[in-house]
Amino acid sequence: MRAAPEQYEMISPGNLAAALKLMASEPGRWLPVAGGTEVMVQYSAGRLPQRNLMNVWGLPELRRIEVTPDAVVIGGGCTFAEIRAHKAIAAEFSMLAKTAAWVGSIANQNRATLAGNLANASPAADSPPALLAYEAEIELISVRGTRRIPYTQCHLDYKRTALTQDELILAVRLPRRFAGWRDYVRKVGTRNAQAISKVCMAAQALVQDGVVEAIRMGMGSVAPVPLRLAAIEECAAGRKVNATLIAECRQLLDKMIAPIDDIRSTIEYRRLVAGNVLEDCLRTLAGTA
Ligand SMILES: Cc1cc2nc3c(=O)[nH]c(=O)nc-3n(C[C@H](O)[C@H](O)[C@H](O)COP(=O)(O)OP(=O)(O)OC[C@H]3O[C@@H](n4cnc5c(N)ncnc54)[C@H](O)[C@@H]3O)c2cc1C
Repeated sequence: MRAAPEQYEMISPGNLAAALKLMASEPGRWLPVAGGTEVMVQYSAGRLPQRNLMNVWGLPELRRIEVTPDAVVIGGGCTFAEIRAHKAIAAEFSMLAKTAAWVGSIANQNRATLAGNLANASPAADSPPALLAYEAEIELISVRGTRRIPYTQCHLDYKRTALTQDELILAVRLPRRFAGWRDYVRKVGTRNAQAISKVCMAAQALVQDGVVEAIRMGMGSVAPVPLRLAAIEECAAGRKVNATLIAECRQLLDKMIAPIDDIRSTIEYRRLVAGNVLEDCLRTLAGTA
């Protein structure tokens, strides 16, 4: 059933302070809309329960990318097109630049924002695995001030985040402490473009003579939330990548993930592919693929 426009109200507060004030005055009433690529799909299908929408598209405070000595700070309102085009992101955080290029079509990337991708909290979203591997923090803002949380604490459950009802995602901070690490990023979808991930993965590692000195890994589409593969990171640290390590890591992964059957894939397929991608990741990072 199509939505009836007269049942909806949309306000454009015009600046961040006014947007936060509105959210604080009636917590939960005003749904922020950035690029609208998630919200408008629900609206068009008549499945958007919220009737009061607040336009945050283009607010300058959410739309900056700042490079500091310690971090690259990406405003929540930045689009994937802007992220793809940014030189410092391409140079230092190329996995995020690559995942930005995977989000839907070019038209999509011109509207879809990083904060929208995270707040929508789909386990199949493309940017989370890279943010997990980069140990990103997210900066939240409300009339009460700002707070930072590790991105690992953002997703509480399927479509549920740690954001309170009066908060917006102000920015995502990527720490600049991984110079010299190798990286690996992979999306498995029905096609190479314009497809939702069946399994997606990002990882980076410090490797010396085939030994993994340190590794950070994130995987999407295999559980209710995007997963940081901490147990596998611990298992691999300090070891050479060989058949024994790969078998152990695959077993650990099998215990950690809880993929679903849906129109895109079966549980069995996702389990097998997740294991294959993990193996390819370890071999590629170690230089033995
Ligand atoms: C055809 C199509 C293809 C797609 N393909 C992909 C794909 O391949 N990979 C992928 O990952 N996604 C894909 N998507 C999903 C979507 O484009 C992304 O999730 C996008 O990043 C959402 O951003 P947005 O700004 O459009 O969000 P919106 O639709 O504006 O909002 C989404 C959610 O985020 C909240 N929100 C927005 N901004 C903020 C903020 N600053 N703080 C707090 N909450 C906020 C909103 O309230 C809402 O709950 C696709 C969508 C479509 C329609």
